[in-house]
Amino acid sequence: MTEEREDSRCQLCGATKKTHNLDNISVCTSCKTVMTTVKSHPEVIKNAWRLYHDEPILPQPGGSEPRETIELPDVVDGKRYRAVDREQNKWYLSVSEVDGNPVEVFASTAFDRNHELQSRISNLTTITRLISLILRHIFLYEPLTLDKCLKQIQRSSRQKNDLPDMLYGVLSRYRKGPEETERNNQII
Ligand SMILES: [Zn+2]
Repeated sequence: MTEEREDSRCQLCGATKKTHNLDNISVCTSCKTVMTTVKSHPEVIKNAWRLYHDEPILPQPGGSEPRETIELPDVVDGKRYRAVDREQNKWYLSVSEVDGNPVEVFASTAFDRNHELQSRISNLTTITRLISLILRHIFLYEPLTLDKCLKQIQRSSRQKNDLPDMLYGVLSRYRKGPEETERNNQII
């Protein structure tokens, strides 16, 4: 059942036209056709979409609305796994959990205090920090941004010109805003 109104605004395309109320949304006649097709024959929309657009219809399956970020609680559950690598080094891999989902990972090992292995440790820190960022994005819906990636990479660096420091230098150039220009000028 749809009810008609003269000269109101279509909530889908914004046109001021005669609208119909369909599923509590005021839509013009054209948008009404689109809406009923999306609702009843989504495969037609998918097929038509592929003819013109080389990208998914919805960026996230299961909903286009961004989910609200869940705050990481002050106290979280965790599990620590002991593992041995191919060079027989013993590792402790710790996983923080929220509702049974992994939201942070840490890795530690006995060679942590070895000064010759600083670069290896900074690479490891980069991996675990970036994995943690992705896990928080997947399970806590924390938005993923270039600035957040950069912050984690920068914090992983232990000394000047180690791998994270170099990556930070290169990727910072893609930052938008006044800082970007400043950094670019410094490098060049
Ligand atoms: Zn419309």
